Amino acid sequence: MLNSESLNNVLENKIITHHDALQIYQDAVRNPSELYATSQKLRKGSKGDIVTFSKKAFFNIINMCRDTCTYCTYKSEPNEKKLSLMSIQDIKQMLKMAKKYRCVEALFVTGERPEQKYQEAKDWLKKNGFKSTPEYLAHASEMALEEGLFPHTNAGNLTPDEMRELKRTNVSIGLMLENSSDRLVQKGMPHHLAPSKRPKRRLEVLENAGRLKMPMTTGILVGIGETPEEVIESIFAIKKIHDRYGHIQEVILQNFQPKQDTMMSESPSASESYFKIIVAMTRIIMPKMNIQIPPNLSPKSYQSFLSVGINDWGGISPLTPDYVNPEFSWPEIKKIDENSRKAGFNLQCRFPVYPEFFSWISKELREKMTLIEDDKGMVKEEYWR
Ligand code: SF4
Repeated sequence: MLNSESLNNVLENKIITHHDALQIYQDAVRNPSELYATSQKLRKGSKGDIVTFSKKAFFNIINMCRDTCTYCTYKSEPNEKKLSLMSIQDIKQMLKMAKKYRCVEALFVTGERPEQKYQEAKDWLKKNGFKSTPEYLAHASEMALEEGLFPHTNAGNLTPDEMRELKRTNVSIGLMLENSSDRLVQKGMPHHLAPSKRPKRRLEVLENAGRLKMPMTTGILVGIGETPEEVIESIFAIKKIHDRYGHIQEVILQNFQPKQDTMMSESPSASESYFKIIVAMTRIIMPKMNIQIPPNLSPKSYQSFLSVGINDWGGISPLTPDYVNPEFSWPEIKKIDENSRKAGFNLQCRFPVYPEFFSWISKELREKMTLIEDDKGMVKEEYWR
């Protein structure tokens, strides 16, 4: 029996209100031990002692972007050295390499509709035979499937038609909510110059994905100037959509790390104690959700997050850098395996879609997956190890 009545209620599967959650948060700031004990128990109950990851290759398809987020170092201007414009040939070559490394996921990432702002992006699309970035992504996804990799696209706010098209080839797609607070799009705030990050727009896209029965990865960027109320509200916003459509397959909690040459370079990173409390809060608000933190953003302590409620490390690449956080390289899979084991967890490689959602995937895609799938819906050990 815990001292906190609200946490006892959580353990009895009772619905938790915003007010309860805020009280739990405030208590945890003073002493987080009861919150952590609860989140750990819930994780164990719904996920056992398994922690998953996705063995991926990161395809930095085009990193021009019509928006500007003040923390972003991924976005490139046409004249910058970091500009990436992958041609069909580049994609083909990288897919072959990814297959050689026995990657499972082809993560396709782009900036937000670059062709709406940059002539260079329009020319690049034209040269490769396409009118829009989503059209190009649909083609790249077909190429990935032909090579035996499974696409997961993260290309910002897509329309229902674009998502419908990608559903033919992508086992899931991704769109970070970041935060549901309108305050963060006001002047002087991180998303002021990023219209695509208006919470209403993002939530609409997430809802549309739900209507299309598209397994969806979303998440929150923690530590960008939000208040605890706003981050808790964001977790509830994701829960609300998931309660309605049942399509959120995982929630990524990403801790903000300041990047050089960005407007937020002097802002402090999210403190580990704050971040851990948010991770544990997410587990108690959504006890059965797959919850992920990127291990490269907590390089010294990622394994300690296993005891506050996570059950997934996200995509790890043995081949490509994390182009969104290039200064934080991914730990080696071998090392993650070892550290997970030391913490009492069994590392398994999952597909970019979780087994709970296999029935939503087309017969054609499922057939391709079975070639490397074990009897629990994970990737066969002999394939990925
Ligand atoms: S975070 Fe995404 S939307 Fe924002 S500027 Fe970077 S690429 Fe564009």
